[in-house]
Amino acid sequence: MESESGALEDAVSAGVNRLCLDLGFMTRAVMTLGRMIEPDYDGYHCDGTSLVFGSDWILSRQSSEPNLIPRSIAHSILHCILGHSSPTNDPLLDLAEDIVVGYILDSLDVPCIRTSGRDDRMYAAEKIFKNAGSPVPKAMVEVLREASQWRITDYMRMFHVDNHRGRESVSDMGWSELSKQMMVEVEGFSQKLEGRSDALLRILRIRNRRRHDYRAFLRKFMTRRSSIRENPDEFDYIYYSYGLRMYGNLPLIDSVEYSDNPHVEEFVIAIDTSGSTMKGPVMRFIEEAFDVLRQSGLGNGGSELHIIQCDDEIRSDVIIRNEMDMKSMMGDFHIMGGGGTDFRPVFRYVDGLRSDGALKNLKGLMYFTDGMGTYPETRPEYDTAFVFCDDGCRERQVPPWAMRITVDTDDLMTDSVKHD
Ligand SMILES: [Zn+2]
Repeated sequence: MESESGALEDAVSAGVNRLCLDLGFMTRAVMTLGRMIEPDYDGYHCDGTSLVFGSDWILSRQSSEPNLIPRSIAHSILHCILGHSSPTNDPLLDLAEDIVVGYILDSLDVPCIRTSGRDDRMYAAEKIFKNAGSPVPKAMVEVLREASQWRITDYMRMFHVDNHRGRESVSDMGWSELSKQMMVEVEGFSQKLEGRSDALLRILRIRNRRRHDYRAFLRKFMTRRSSIRENPDEFDYIYYSYGLRMYGNLPLIDSVEYSDNPHVEEFVIAIDTSGSTMKGPVMRFIEEAFDVLRQSGLGNGGSELHIIQCDDEIRSDVIIRNEMDMKSMMGDFHIMGGGGTDFRPVFRYVDGLRSDGALKNLKGLMYFTDGMGTYPETRPEYDTAFVFCDDGCRERQVPPWAMRITVDTDDLMTDSVKHD
């Protein structure tokens, strides 16, 4: 017995060494974790502080899977680094997390983590990412929910590694800090990996992107005193230097001048309903926008928020003036559309409202979209921002008169409205 457990410990140590040799950027994370061999346990998990190997699990698999241990350790480390820590996930969320991690490992493709079936896994994962619009587990679950049971079973066979029920979700245990450090190290390591770390970097960037950027944007956009048209310097100061496209390490400029006397009047949020725009992120964005009005004291009759749904024609225009309006809209919100993408009808419609006097002091229009559409040729007489809700990895071209921000579905879906 003694010699068997010694042999298992040696096998684990050898796996750790191989992993650190092939993927140096994982060393720090590996070293923060304890290692345990549990007798009579046919499973493997990481609770966030230790790697727990079942003796039966190693013995029954090791001979057919020579990279079992290093690959499994790398799998657990990526879960920790990416914040996958809940022991009580919906099984589809567990699966989505395993797909993300499996895909990163298959993309890295260094010797110690290679396992058979790589092409099939990568093909399946890429298809799911594409349909979800993002390699983010919460978005992927929506896609997996549509899949047949046999396909889910097949995905589980392909991607399952560790027992997620053994996790400890009590706290972050320093993993978010390690995640940032790893991102820096992977960037330094990326030349050696010749592009194979792109998937990891892309997913780490999503994980480490500064949260609440879209909130900061909403605050800036909705509470500034004058139009950027009248004051181009302000445009440069707030928006241009702000980056417009935000990856998290750009400084957020908080201007006292604008925050002590916010001036909010009429706003339009246009929602492009042509593509795969999802209800959840849209509702969250609207909630946040209303929260900005509420916080600035104008959320109760002092302002109007038009929520316009449009694909290639106007589908609805709901006006929100107060908390009651907001509640009733949220209670009965559904996406209407499915036609082609054209941004112009909204601008024509809004121009009509302005000339009728229905809109008297339009301060700005935010167009919430997940894709490319036809832009108006001329610059509108109000500030316009295109809010792209997608994976944050595509460069969108917008006309020079428009602002552009990219928000992450995951940010919109996991954050709750904060009342500062
Ligand atoms: Zn897993």
